[in-house]
Amino acid sequence: MPCELCGRECKGGREAIIDGAKMFVCPDCIKYAEAPVQEEPVRTNRPPQTQRFIVKKTQKPERDIYKDKGMEKDLVSNWNHLIEQARKKKSLTREELGFKIGERTVTIAKLENGDLRPSDQTIAKLEKELGISLMEEIKTSPTGTQTRAQGGFTLGDFIKTEK
Ligand SMILES: [Zn+2]
Repeated sequence: MPCELCGRECKGGREAIIDGAKMFVCPDCIKYAEAPVQEEPVRTNRPPQTQRFIVKKTQKPERDIYKDKGMEKDLVSNWNHLIEQARKKKSLTREELGFKIGERTVTIAKLENGDLRPSDQTIAKLEKELGISLMEEIKTSPTGTQTRAQGGFTLGDFIKTEK
């Protein structure tokens, strides 16, 4: 299992509380931990069928970040994957990327896990550092329903145009 903090494959990793979140980290990253997580006492007698699916809270993205007469900009839906893919393309570890944009490694990990929505500032830094576009235009129709603009700028487009 890869370390959730630096993303490296690691042996002897363990769970730890980092920045209030339970994460599986490698021995290198355990130094970021606030407190070690105790092994859960009851785990053996849970039948496999009852494994609970953790449904992530579907957060409605805030629409009021970029307002411009019916045309808004919003984070692309798979922003966390875009960040991770772009980082790996540049062969950066989460620590290295965090260092470059002045964010902590745990912040990068949370962003890539989709647990943390980047601030406008962080988006700008990530876009600059990774050469990706994390925002897309949202068209607001007169009826008030919103649809995502077609033909948005994707990571795939970027890779094509880069060459
Ligand atoms: Zn690690």
